[in-house]
Amino acid sequence: MALDSCTNYSLQEEIQRNCDVNLDTCYECGKCSGGCSNGHIFDFTPRKIIQLIKLGQENTLLHMDALWICVACNICWDRCPSSINIPRIMDYLREKAHQQGITATRPQVETFHRLMLDSIYKRGRVAEVPMMIQYNLAIGNLFNESGMAARMLLKGKLRPVLTSVKQIQTVRQMFNNPKKKEG
Ligand code: SF4
Ligand code: SF4
Repeated sequence: MALDSCTNYSLQEEIQRNCDVNLDTCYECGKCSGGCSNGHIFDFTPRKIIQLIKLGQENTLLHMDALWICVACNICWDRCPSSINIPRIMDYLREKAHQQGITATRPQVETFHRLMLDSIYKRGRVAEVPMMIQYNLAIGNLFNESGMAARMLLKGKLRPVLTSVKQIQTVRQMFNNPKKKEG
């Protein structure tokens, strides 16, 4: 994913341009943190993450554990009275940490995340079986969750055949030219 992190911008401006959000509309109500699926194990709650962005604490944000345990459930976004898209911000920060070579606090989560994005880039959808094999090879445990995979295959919950979406170029365009807010 292309990131627009021009050094002339503050971190807040950079995130607002790339994530289509206005952080000035956050009034610290904490509804995002109160509903967060994994807030109880985050090192920084969603409300604090917004404050850290405003304070320009990029280094702290790119190293935080919360980046790798956010499950992108969208509850924070749904509850926010100002409709601030926090999952999009988390995604942006994850990508930025990766591009800067920062080691994830949960390497296996990052490996899974990257393989999933690669699969979507190549086919426009997740190729579950090949992705799980790649993941198991990457973590050095070929038979990881093999029992569950077999049960899911039998129930038709996993796609054994590789197929691509028809408009694959459109999907790739989203990776190369993510929508940016003008101005
Ligand atoms: S719910 Fe929205 S307005 Fe309230 S603290 Fe969270 S981001 Fe800010
Ligand atoms: S998307 Fe992430 S930050 Fe938002 S509620 Fe879900 S786990 Fe928490």
